[in-house]
Amino acid sequence: RPALARPSKTRIFVVANQKGGVGKTTSTVNIAAALAQLGQRVLVIDLDPQGNASTALGVEHRRGVPSTYDALVDGEPLVDVTTESPEIENLWAVPATIDLAGAEIELVSVVARESRLRKAVHGHPWVGTAAEAGEDRFDYVLIDCPPSLGLLTLNALVAGDEMLIPIQAEYYALEGLGQLLETVEMVRAHLNQGLEVSTILVTMFDARTRLASGVAEEVREHFGDQVLKTSIPRSVRVSEAPSYGQTVMTYDPGSPGALSYLEAAREIAIQGASR
Ligand code: ADP
Ligand code: MG
Repeated sequence: RPALARPSKTRIFVVANQKGGVGKTTSTVNIAAALAQLGQRVLVIDLDPQGNASTALGVEHRRGVPSTYDALVDGEPLVDVTTESPEIENLWAVPATIDLAGAEIELVSVVARESRLRKAVHGHPWVGTAAEAGEDRFDYVLIDCPPSLGLLTLNALVAGDEMLIPIQAEYYALEGLGQLLETVEMVRAHLNQGLEVSTILVTMFDARTRLASGVAEEVREHFGDQVLKTSIPRSVRVSEAPSYGQTVMTYDPGSPGALSYLEAAREIAIQGASR
């Protein structure tokens, strides 16, 4: 297949869903790794104090390493807390340490508390158009959000251009999404007009159950073209990879999970080329 064209400017994705365990982190790191394998330059920002994305990328995130907290709370340049993936070419990460748990409260009294991350991201020399950031520019920034709608997620929604919402193919999938979408509307009205829910990804899909197919159907009825054609199957290999400090893209590249994430990443890249 021909190499994918690079977007003309950095696409900043917020991966969010206030429900925990729906595949936010798994999708962030695997789509990031897949895009990197497709020749795109990618930055993952871990915005969850749990640091699961950092773990999955094999990036250190013990207390004391330069992290998202330093950029968000102390205003350190993002470039100074950005580290190269030890394993995957074209991939960089900003790790999250447990300090980030305090940021939710520490930020309350800070000036322009909702736009700290936006300022940090746009201040990165590799973020922007080709003219602004040159050949070294990031093609994608993916922000992995915590499972809540607090100040951390709000910062991500203000920083981003597009949202990627992973939806787990299970019975209560759409429940609670209303609250997320209301928050998005509020952000669009007051803080970030440009934010767009561009991408929905169905995760942990089990083709053998009628329930999963029904849920996927319902998600498609509700969101239409925003839903990627590729769903991510439930697969043990996907869930094993993080314990080896790896994404499934390197842990088991031929597995159905890895191939699906590669296909989803390709869809995202192609969808971007027509924007
Ligand atoms: P979130 O970040 O939304 O809380 P995670 O990405 O951490 O969700 O996923 C929750 C759990 O489900 C993790 O243990 C993860 O390994 C597992 N998981 C995610 N996607 C899959 C999948 N496609 N197949 C099997 N397990 C998965
Ligand atoms: Mg997570």
